[in-house]
Amino acid sequence: MGRNEELNPFAIAQRQLDEAAEILKLDPATHELLRWPMREFHIRIPVRMDDGTVKVFEGFRVQYNDARGPTKGGIRFHPKETFDTVRALAAWMTWKTAVMDIPLGGAKGGVICNPKEMSESELERLSRGYIRALAHYIGPNVDVPAPDVYTNPQIMAWMMDEYSKIVGYNAPGVITGKPLPLGGSAGRGDATARGGMYCIREAARVLGLELKGATTAIQGYGNAGSFAHKLGVELLGLKVVAVSDSKGGIYNPNGLDYEKVFAHKRETGSVINFPGAENITNEELLELDVDVLIPAALENQIGDWNADNVKAKIVAELANGPTTPEADEILFKKGVYVIPDFLCNAGGVTVSYFEQVQNFYLYAWDEKTVYERLDKKMTAAFHAVHEAAQKYGIHNRLGAYVVAVSRVAEAMKLRGWV
Ligand code: NAD
Repeated sequence: MGRNEELNPFAIAQRQLDEAAEILKLDPATHELLRWPMREFHIRIPVRMDDGTVKVFEGFRVQYNDARGPTKGGIRFHPKETFDTVRALAAWMTWKTAVMDIPLGGAKGGVICNPKEMSESELERLSRGYIRALAHYIGPNVDVPAPDVYTNPQIMAWMMDEYSKIVGYNAPGVITGKPLPLGGSAGRGDATARGGMYCIREAARVLGLELKGATTAIQGYGNAGSFAHKLGVELLGLKVVAVSDSKGGIYNPNGLDYEKVFAHKRETGSVINFPGAENITNEELLELDVDVLIPAALENQIGDWNADNVKAKIVAELANGPTTPEADEILFKKGVYVIPDFLCNAGGVTVSYFEQVQNFYLYAWDEKTVYERLDKKMTAAFHAVHEAAQKYGIHNRLGAYVVAVSRVAEAMKLRGWV
């Protein structure tokens, strides 16, 4: 498939499942149930804009599978959001919670909008409108949203407040990724990147690779990407030589200082034109001669058009769906060690799950406890996936599918669904 052809993420998610189903010899009913969302909502949200007009936004919520527990998954605010992207992300959430062995299912939500062009109060009305449309179908024991692309703790706070008003009591457990004073968890802010760092550490262990000074490129400089820069240096001693955002990338073979790049992005709105670094394109960043490549932006970044040019030894997918199935095969044959998205970026949902647990018993853990428990969960999941991949002689993504799908299939069987 070429770069310019439409890559439907949900078709990709289904293809990935089909491969795992074949290895696991899933019975047809189990396979069919797992190929499709269990339940989905397509909503319209009228929002009063600051100029007095009403704009109608289109939104989605997909509850993919709840055999292992209440569904869980973030909400994206993005101008190019599609139903199929949300479906794919909801499927990946199902595999993610299963691979992490946490008692939750998978869901995802999205609204087609451009938050960069909206005022704070318009965003608040949109966030509350989204929850009003779905309040009767979500809840701490039903479906629990969280932040994702272009949504943040403030948006989660408005959403939690709206839900609490509708049900008539404070219900912090309905949303995770909340600000700390409203029941957010210590350690949630950088959890996705932190979990990814634990995976990179374990990958280097099984590969016998030295990480201190290992050159690293990061695509995307939002929550996942910028914390990957900070923690990659702090926890693993990586040398981050390139980073990027939607406007382009920067490269300095001697390494980029996190504090300075972050301040530059805050001041100028982008990482590009950072003093002392060379501007590069996002395409060039992916093909740099580095030890570790961290896609942390959007899906379909590594495909059959560029996979052969990827030189990294480890590709740690903090983004969801950055690698196409064709690219998976190419990278596997080249011996590139891919840490697949729903394992590598599962730190976020794992600490979200910790947040739910804390909300349920009205008690907050300290940062150290969160980090230790996260490390334990990530390390166990990493090795389960690595061992499955080794056992079947397959690439790590398929290994992760084998672990996750077998757990969800087992839960469905135990419930008597199939
Ligand atoms: P974010 O909104 O904080 O940041 C997104 C970043 O990607 C921004 O820097 C943006 O400029 C950049 N970007 C957008 N389009 C780009 C393009 N075409 N090329 C290069 N960069 C581009 O989002 P985030 O929370 O950091 O999420 C990034 C990825 O990580 C997504 O795939 C998301 O699903 C995944 N993820 C995030 C979390 C989390 O907890 N934040 C958890 C799991 C997975």
